[in-house]
This record gives sequence, C-alpha cells and structure tokens, in this order.
Amino acid sequence: MTILRAQPGLLTRSAQIIDGKAVAAEVRAECRIRVQKLKQSGIAPALAVLMVGNDPASAIYVRNKIKACAEVGIHSEQFVFDKDTSSDVLLERIHSLNANPMIHGILVQLPLPSHIALKPILHAIDPQKDVDGFHLYNVGALVSGSAVFPPCTPFGVLRLLEHAKIPLEGQNVVVVGASNIVGKPMALMLMQRDATVCICHAKTRDLAQFTILADILVVAAGRPSLILPQMVKTGAVVIDVGINRLPNGRLVGDVDFEGVRKKASFVTPVPGGVGPMTVTMLLVNTIASAEHAAHRMP
Ligand code: NAP
Repeated sequence: MTILRAQPGLLTRSAQIIDGKAVAAEVRAECRIRVQKLKQSGIAPALAVLMVGNDPASAIYVRNKIKACAEVGIHSEQFVFDKDTSSDVLLERIHSLNANPMIHGILVQLPLPSHIALKPILHAIDPQKDVDGFHLYNVGALVSGSAVFPPCTPFGVLRLLEHAKIPLEGQNVVVVGASNIVGKPMALMLMQRDATVCICHAKTRDLAQFTILADILVVAAGRPSLILPQMVKTGAVVIDVGINRLPNGRLVGDVDFEGVRKKASFVTPVPGGVGPMTVTMLLVNTIASAEHAAHRMP
C-alpha cells in the first residue's frame, strides 16, 4: 500500500509567469532586423490603419499600433473617418489602398459603428494585405492548415507557448471563448499543432468539468474571475487573454491570477501577458506581407 504524505513544498508552489512584455520585445527586435533587410532591397513595409468614429478605446489601440510600427521602422498611415461615414466611403478607401503597391497591410479598427455592416468591409480588403487575418480567404486558409496571416491574438499566444517551450502535441487544450477573432482561430491553430482541443462558450454547461481536464487552458471570454483555482488542473499552463476593467479602474483578465498561480505550472499575467503580443504579431504579419510582395517583384 502506498501512503501519500502531504508535501510542504506543494503548499508554496507558484507558477512561472510568462512575461509577454519580454517576449514581445524579443519579437520586435527580430522585426527590426527583417525591416532593415527589406529596406536594403528597396521595400519600405507599410501599414494602413482605418478607424471610423472616435471611440476612446479604439483610439488608444490605434495609437499603440502606430507607435509600435514606428518602433520597428514600419511606415504607417492612419485614416480617421467621421462616425457617420458611409460604407461606400470606407470601401472606396479600402479599394484604393488595395491598389497601392506601397501599402502592405490594411487594418480596419473594430468595432465599427452599427450602420456599417462588418463582413463586406472585412472581405473588401485584399487577402494579401489582410494582416488581421479576418478575410474569408485567410479564415479558410487557417481552417485548411495553410494560414497566410494568422489572427494576431492567437498568433501571439502561440508564440508565448513556444517561448515557454510548452509542448502542444497530444496535449489536452481547452479554449474558453469561441469568437471569430480569438477563440475559434486559437482552437484551429492548436489543432494544427496536434493538440486535442475542446472549445467552450457561454452556453457550455458546467464549464469546470472541461477546464479541469486541460493541460493547457486558454481563456478569452471577457469575464473577470471566470476561472477559479478549483477549475484548473494542478500543473496546467494557463493563458489569460481576457481584458476587463473593474469598477475601481483596475485591469484584470478572466483568471483569478493569485489563486490560479498557486496551482498552475505557467500562467500569463494581465496586463503584461497576451496584450503586448497582439500588437507585436500585427507587426510580424505586416513584415511578412512586405516580404511576400518582395518575392512577387520581377
Ligand atoms: P467576444 O467576441 O465577446 O467573445 C467572448 C466569447 O466568450 C464568446 O464565445 C462567449 O460565448 C464566451 N463566453 C462569454 N461568457 C462566457 C462564460 N461565462 N463561459 C464561457 N464562455 C463565455 O470577445 P473576444 O473579442 O473574443 O475577446 C474575449 C476577451 O479577450 C475580452 O476580454 C477581450 O477584451 C480580450 N481580448 C484581448 C486581446 C489581447 O490582446 N489581450 C485581444 C482580443 C481580445 P458565446 O459565443 O456563447 O457568446
């Protein structure tokens, strides 16, 4: 008979923190080198960012993207439209950017005002410049395992997992959240790396019965304290994509960080985890687009 004794060390264990800021800085350093190489061969990578209206959160995101581009030497152009701008005006600008060989990436900041239908706008972007990866072509490419531009947030998560040397093959992964921009592409990308993936969403009954099985748990629901320690397997890797502003102004993820860090083997903080990676992977996609353009040159 085996007698299991309490191990004092277990009471004080704490997960390793995956530092998204540090990984992002590393990836940005690689970006700078790639941009320099492109410039030496006569190509200046450029991103166009379109924004409709003056939503303060969107304005901050756009400012961060423009700043990040400048940091690695990517040229950026910002187009800000009045909140009442029609779809046609926006489409006209997208068509002209599609035709402009000096622009390699086109991004429409979301959300758009409710009078503008999202899909026709996203699908008007040339798939070869769709650095957010939201065009049907790129979604299809992702499903069939040949992603051209992987959506930036799940792409960033993958890079964090790689950095922490977390094996994916054969691992049980649970993705909480099934949105088109995070949960679904995340699940597909992990499946392509031979993980066994389960996707949960708001109508999932008894979320904990799924999360407890996860070797790797990726949470992108936008619900503070959704994931409590008792829902996490001991030694699991926990990636918190959520960003929530509490009434007291504090920024938190979807995971009870302090509780879960005592049980997990790795965990990402909020802020400073997935967030810095999202903008960084936008830079990576823009550079990749410019490199594709360079290969197409006669
Ligand atoms: P979203 O479009 O609102 O989707 C949320 C998803 O979570 C939906 O699939 C929803 O299920 C599911 N969900 C909601 N409540 C749930 C619950 N109680 N249990 C299980 N699933 C639940 O949001 P999103 O754009 O994917 O973003 C998710 C979170 O990530 C947000 O906090 C957002 O701010 C953050 N985010 C962060 C970054 C970053 O760079 N760190 C980037 C993008 C998003 P249904 O489909 O059934 O409604």
